[in-house]
Amino acid sequence: MLELNNVAYRYPEASVQIDFQVETGRAAALMGPSGCGKTTVLNLIAGLLHPAHGEIKFNHQSLLTLKPAERPVTFLFQAHNLFPHLTVWQNLALGVDPGLKVSPREKQNIARALEWISMPEFSERFPSDLSGGQQQRVALARCLLRNRPLLLLDEPFSALDQSLRSEMIALIGELQQQQSLTLVVATHQLQDAEALDARIVTMEA
Ligand code: ADP
Ligand code: MG
Repeated sequence: MLELNNVAYRYPEASVQIDFQVETGRAAALMGPSGCGKTTVLNLIAGLLHPAHGEIKFNHQSLLTLKPAERPVTFLFQAHNLFPHLTVWQNLALGVDPGLKVSPREKQNIARALEWISMPEFSERFPSDLSGGQQQRVALARCLLRNRPLLLLDEPFSALDQSLRSEMIALIGELQQQQSLTLVVATHQLQDAEALDARIVTMEA
């Protein structure tokens, strides 16, 4: 279970409070108007921000003592998930090892991840030579390779048209099944939350 118990974060001019729990392997959707604190909550889980008070636990262990890189978390943003100066293959290898050192077995995993997103022939392309939807699929393939149990998604579909959206949601559902991922997704769209069978967490401005 992922638990955010009575968590608060304060900016100079705003404060965000949140309390919710989601079972391991399930999805929670953070919904609410722009500025209500969805991104802040994801940053708190990822460890990019530290709460003023409250507890964040995953499977009964506090995440608060862990540095961002040590947390069992992968973050997928709305855009700009890829390094522009690296090829698709190199961006995927980064999901495996920050120094791009990959074993033969991991090379196979990268090849399989490229097949999973139906882009096996794109490995030597740079992100600027891909469409927005293709870039998001590569970013998702990197999430697959990172193989961390918590996947945080910050409005990951909002730049995509309806058919790409459905495609991404289907891939995320597959990934969730395969790796028993716990998802937290910030979204404006009720239909996205429903498609992911997410528990809805409503946030107020
Ligand atoms: P959402 O993702 O739901 O749009 P955010 O988490 O980005 O909301 O922002 C929540 C509130 O915190 C907003 O009022 C926003 O203006 C404020 N805020 C966000 N980031 C910062 C920051 N770096 N410094 C000061 N205030 C911020
Ligand atoms: Mg946001």
